[in-house]
Amino acid sequence: MPQTITLTLSPQQAASPEVYVAEAARRVGISKDRVALARIVKRSVDARKAPVKVNLTLELYIDSEAPAPEEHFDYPDVSGHEEVIIVGGGPAGLFCALRLIELGYRPVVLERGKEVSARRRDVAVINRNGILDPDSNYAFGEGGAGTFSDGKLFTRSKKRGDYNKALRTLVFHGADPAILYEAHPHIGTDRLPGIMTAIRHTIEGCGGEVRFGSRVEGLLMRDGAVCGVECSGERIAARNVVLATGHSADDIYLMLYRQGVALQAKAFAMGVRVEHPQALIDEIQYHGAGREYLPAASYTLTAQVGGRGVYSFCMCPGGVIVPAMTDPSESVVNGMSSSARNSRWANSGIVTEIRLSDFEHLREEWGELAGLKFRLELERAAKQAGGDAQIAPAQRLTDFVSGRVSYDLPQASYVPGTVPSVFGEWMPTFMYEALREGFGVFGRRMHGFMTREAQVLGVESRTSSPVRIPRDPETLMHVSVRGLYPAGEGAGYAGGIISAALDGERIAEAIARNK
Ligand SMILES: Cc1cc2nc3c(=O)[nH]c(=O)nc-3n(C[C@H](O)[C@H](O)[C@H](O)COP(=O)(O)OP(=O)(O)OC[C@H]3O[C@@H](n4cnc5c(N)ncnc54)[C@H](O)[C@@H]3O)c2cc1C
Repeated sequence: MPQTITLTLSPQQAASPEVYVAEAARRVGISKDRVALARIVKRSVDARKAPVKVNLTLELYIDSEAPAPEEHFDYPDVSGHEEVIIVGGGPAGLFCALRLIELGYRPVVLERGKEVSARRRDVAVINRNGILDPDSNYAFGEGGAGTFSDGKLFTRSKKRGDYNKALRTLVFHGADPAILYEAHPHIGTDRLPGIMTAIRHTIEGCGGEVRFGSRVEGLLMRDGAVCGVECSGERIAARNVVLATGHSADDIYLMLYRQGVALQAKAFAMGVRVEHPQALIDEIQYHGAGREYLPAASYTLTAQVGGRGVYSFCMCPGGVIVPAMTDPSESVVNGMSSSARNSRWANSGIVTEIRLSDFEHLREEWGELAGLKFRLELERAAKQAGGDAQIAPAQRLTDFVSGRVSYDLPQASYVPGTVPSVFGEWMPTFMYEALREGFGVFGRRMHGFMTREAQVLGVESRTSSPVRIPRDPETLMHVSVRGLYPAGEGAGYAGGIISAALDGERIAEAIARNK
């Protein structure tokens, strides 16, 4: 049995295996030569007060004890087995496909976008020329919104076993094993595309299929059950259809609405993305001690403003802001970073709750799609404020809070460019006021956060789905269409890469159970 020990070290000590192994051996009372292997099982940075410390939990294998073998993923050949159609090749769709293979089904993934390398070129064109392909962009294509995402791996799910399996699945497909022990695991946008492609290769290698350029435009239904899909002019039959299309696929919600498939409006969150110099965030969070041996610093902020929550969302240390819209009429920003998190900027979504009552005025005309319409109106207003070519409206943080125009803007990481805009003139008043006051609270809590060097860009609108595609809690099928399985973020059952992946797995298990 390995011996487990937790050390509290300086960042420099924690960066040197020679130093921490010697310290661990000293603490358990053996010579360091007897340590055959020291495996990190948890690492976290404690920056609550100066000096910053690193907590390192190690498993020590003494003398020649061998570590337990790593789990091996054995995906069987499912050629000729019953097919399940999965619409959408994001984390929910891909993890659903992997789990279906384990359970003996043949997944057929229909993905409207392109494979990673072609998609990479389309993403470059958005940044360079502002020209957007509605089927191939930061949200659509191989790996879904998860591919060019930041790759922070978190979940609020209590089922840690599943969470650990999801992490091991990512490692099996090429992620750095450090995600298994970091307190805040992160992959980075440079590594995610390779991992998503490796998952596709596993699916194809087992006899499954991933079809690109395959946009689903209708469900085939008979007697209250789904019997296939209409996809790019083709009719494809199947008894089970998983709908894992993400929360950016407005056309899917409209299609379901037109076909009379029940939907439910839900509360969600929207706001802006704020960007600071990373050096400033390091200075604040690491108490001015410098960042040698430490990762780019992050923050988490929350406030209650008049009973409404305002909070930081998807903070990206050492990252960049990217254009994440799916239609040329919209302006949508999001954030990502590479595995090294080494840009000069720190950005984060700062969002506020959008309640059902906030878009009640749209209910009569838009029914359960009222939240979607509300989101679209904000994204279009931001686009108009920004002008052509996906230029984002921006305002210095201090001007945003005091309602003044910014006559100049700091340099931003956002490649398409920024233009000064007064957000209070086009953003719904309740949102603007909540964000303004929320920023005020954050500035008082995090000394240095409220600075002219920071700016806000608009809009951060794709945090969670404004619509739920309701499912039966037992069978996980849609409440009124047999054989239809809404999955992941677009169905309103997940938020983030890992929770979407776990939801995809759950759906695969439900399909096997319901057979
Ligand atoms: C820039 C950015 C950074 C992010 N950073 C993080 C992060 O650090 N950590 C985190 O946990 N999450 C992050 N996210 C969010 C995360 O990517 C999503 O939560 C996750 O990808 C949702 O997975 P999903 O499979 O449910 O949907 P998606 O990933 O949205 O996948 C849906 C797929 O369905 C396809 N599709 C849509 N309509 C159709 C159709 N009609 N026919 C066929 N295919 C269709 C789309 O092309 C897409 O590939 C980020 C997102 C972005 C955009």
